[in-house]
Amino acid sequence: MPEFSLDLNEDQLQLQKWVHDFAEGVVRPAASEWDEREETPWPIIQEAAKIGLYSFEFFFNAFGDSSGLTLPLVTEELFWGDAGIGLSIFGSALAVAAIAGVGSPDQVAEWVPQCFGSADDPQLAAYAVSEADAGSDVSALRTRAIYDEASDEWVLNGTKTWITNGGIADVHVVVASVDSDLRSRGQASFVIPPNTPGLSQGSKFKKHGIRASHTAEVVLEDVRVPGRMLLGGKERLDERLARAREGKSSHKHGAMSTFESSRPTVGAQALGVARAAYEYALDYAKERVQFGRPIIMNQAIAFKLADMRTEIDAARLLVWRAAWMARNGKPFEAGEGSMSKLKAGEVAVRVTEEAIQILGGAGYVREHPVERWARDAKIFTIFEGTSEIQRLVVSRAISGMRIV
Ligand SMILES: Cc1cc2nc3c(=O)[nH]c(=O)nc-3n(C[C@H](O)[C@H](O)[C@H](O)COP(=O)(O)OP(=O)(O)OC[C@H]3O[C@@H](n4cnc5c(N)ncnc54)[C@H](O)[C@@H]3O)c2cc1C
Repeated sequence: MPEFSLDLNEDQLQLQKWVHDFAEGVVRPAASEWDEREETPWPIIQEAAKIGLYSFEFFFNAFGDSSGLTLPLVTEELFWGDAGIGLSIFGSALAVAAIAGVGSPDQVAEWVPQCFGSADDPQLAAYAVSEADAGSDVSALRTRAIYDEASDEWVLNGTKTWITNGGIADVHVVVASVDSDLRSRGQASFVIPPNTPGLSQGSKFKKHGIRASHTAEVVLEDVRVPGRMLLGGKERLDERLARAREGKSSHKHGAMSTFESSRPTVGAQALGVARAAYEYALDYAKERVQFGRPIIMNQAIAFKLADMRTEIDAARLLVWRAAWMARNGKPFEAGEGSMSKLKAGEVAVRVTEEAIQILGGAGYVREHPVERWARDAKIFTIFEGTSEIQRLVVSRAISGMRIV
């Protein structure tokens, strides 16, 4: 049994510095431009692919780290640079997690590398679950997948909404209902390969924050994919459906377990934004002079900064714990994954708002990045499960009761 330690190892420290340098030198200088343009920052994605940060190999190695900390570490650094660009670069990870989580080894080997493309020609992936009438309530999906036995093909119809990289991704992973009577237990995930007829982008959304990240509807009209595109395979699906029809317990819900495993990483994204705002506000408070002294000399300002730092550090410990648990097969018995995302998301909102307050008028105008960080931070209490849904997961886990 190794002694307890929170020290990062040499590899982790190097990786952290490498991503920090990229975030500082490439991402942050471009952040304001892409926020204003509200477009996918392809040149920055290409830079990330060129240095190997956006690549199958990088994610493979990061997932392989037995401490589980590599992914949260690098994610925090990238999002410290900018959350919109960060999500454009790491947004494919949710589709990758879905394929890795429910796909067969052959499917993982075939499709995960395609989610990234190559260093010369990077590609994106999208994970499409949400629909207009099925946001928090993932069990209410209307998108249908029907099996055509004669051709061994699945036929998908429906409209997904608010999908990161939706319609511009090469690989889409779509969650659809195969037996609506079974609600969430009658759902399955499908890989939709590049250029499949019938899949198109619907409306692209104009957003409050993370505006460099593309968010759009995905329309599926008679989308036909070969039987082998069903993640996990037909045999496993049929067994699962049969168990559900008999009222027997089954494995966890596919979409929910994908979200659960990715929550600590989303918490790390929020941490990056919170830390950026805290550091900026700290520097500003030491330099800005009013009433003949730096504003940090007032406890009202200094204590805000003390609280901001305390909250960020507390959130990071929750993120690291959940990431370590997930990597080492420790079950989230008290909803620890949700706790980490809940805390980090709410800390990011509070810290960025306090940072605006510390900067005063300078915090409210676009000459400084703080107002952008506050706009960006809000997404972390909404996507991949709202704060209310995280509280639902934690309260159900700690009580063992069906809290509604
Ligand atoms: C920028 C962006 C990117 C996104 N990317 C993706 C993506 O890539 N893939 C994808 O599938 N989805 C994506 N989403 C969708 C996102 O996951 C949903 O928006 C989110 O799950 C909330 O669903 P909703 O918006 O329908 O809100 P609703 O479910 O309508 O919730 C509205 C409010 O009611 C509350 N509420 C709902 N049910 C309960 C309850 N039982 N108890 C207490 N409160 C409740 C919510 O917490 C919230 O405050 C994205 C969304 C955004 C904005």
